[in-house]
Amino acid sequence: METGLKGRVAVVTGGARGIGRAICEALADSGVSIGVVDLLESEAQGTAEALVQRGVRAIALKADVSKAEDVKALFERVVDEFGTVDILVNNAGITRDTLLLRMKEEDWDAVLNVNLKSAFLCTKEALRTMTKKRYGRIVNISSVVAFTGNPGQVNYSASKAALVGLTKTIAKEYASRGITCNAIAPGFIQTQMTDALPEDVKKEMLRGIPLGRFGTPEDVARAVVFLVSDWASYITGQVIHVNGGMYM
Ligand code: NAP
Repeated sequence: METGLKGRVAVVTGGARGIGRAICEALADSGVSIGVVDLLESEAQGTAEALVQRGVRAIALKADVSKAEDVKALFERVVDEFGTVDILVNNAGITRDTLLLRMKEEDWDAVLNVNLKSAFLCTKEALRTMTKKRYGRIVNISSVVAFTGNPGQVNYSASKAALVGLTKTIAKEYASRGITCNAIAPGFIQTQMTDALPEDVKKEMLRGIPLGRFGTPEDVARAVVFLVSDWASYITGQVIHVNGGMYM
């Protein structure tokens, strides 16, 4: 069976680097044209150029996805350029870790705005097109800590747990329009976000991973490709855990 992805159009937030870039590359290898959204303009441009090399159309879109006006403008640009939006991957995310008693209100707001509000804003804009065409695939990148909690990450874990509720509600609200919405909860994936952790913390985490290695951005990207493909057309409102077994 074909994946049904060839010729589709995707918007990937936080697509310039890390997991987002791997998602862009995996989608491009399946024939999907991509709007690469990021705060980092030159890195987004670099990713878009690499995707064009892989044989698809791609553009870089500089936007802060926690800002409604940026999000509106980026979807207008994508529809202008590609004529439609079929796939949305809400991947942009940040951390501002510290224990709750030390956490500043700005740290709470920044993480909730980038990790959660952005998914609300982007989904709303994407749905304008998806509901009309009665087709859409939305994937939200949550985290294992949404399910386990993690000291020092009260803002991050709350934002990632909230994404699961958002996912299930969107799945129910728009199933009748041919739109699926699922989440992926990665475990420990090797990117700049996790490179910043102290070595002893990394060693301790590795001990808790039955498959005995950290994940790669490609491990997450392959799950995204599956969820947006025709192979997953009967799957909605679900969370796929990509974590080497560290949480089951
Ligand atoms: P990353 O390397 O830090 O990449 C995140 C990307 O999002 C960056 O390019 C970043 O740009 C961009 N971004 C941040 N804020 C943005 C905003 N307001 N508007 C637009 N783009 C923005 O992180 P990653 O490790 O690839 O993580 C990707 C996603 O997976 C995140 O949602 C993260 O929470 C989730 N996740 C990661 C892991 C892991 O182990 N790495 C585990 C579970 C879940 P800037 O550099 O300019 O900020």
